[in-house]
Amino acid sequence: MEMANCRRCRKLFARTSDPICEDCRKADEKLFEEVKKYLRDNPGATLSQISEATGMPMKQLMAYLREGRLEVASGELACRQCGAEISSGNFCNKCAAKMGQQLAGAAAASAAAAAAPPPEDPNKPLSGQVKMHTQQKK
Ligand SMILES: [Zn+2]
Ligand SMILES: [Zn+2]
Repeated sequence: MEMANCRRCRKLFARTSDPICEDCRKADEKLFEEVKKYLRDNPGATLSQISEATGMPMKQLMAYLREGRLEVASGELACRQCGAEISSGNFCNKCAAKMGQQLAGAAAASAAAAAAPPPEDPNKPLSGQVKMHTQQKK
């Protein structure tokens, strides 16, 4: 069993695909549900209003928005490419479509390189690449 320090509370825990421990994950989920509920009741709420009402830090709210797990109608999220107003994710539909085409090309080009992946370094620290799994439940 691999142990790791929780990124949030620094507690040692049996590592899963999450960089945070079970307790923190549960706390996160609870908060996430609260935010969703708040958004249902207050569809036009701004990020600072949501943060204030639920106690979820703005940074975390933004992360959920970028991951597409939350949507806000207040237009506070901008496409990273052209700056257009979006309600979740990183890019507007136009840019996403454009980049989808580019990505398809890049994927084909890197397919050859991916055939021989570099050896995994077991001592590699948890990086930002370790993403939380999208959990669609209920
Ligand atoms: Zn923790
Ligand atoms: Zn765009």
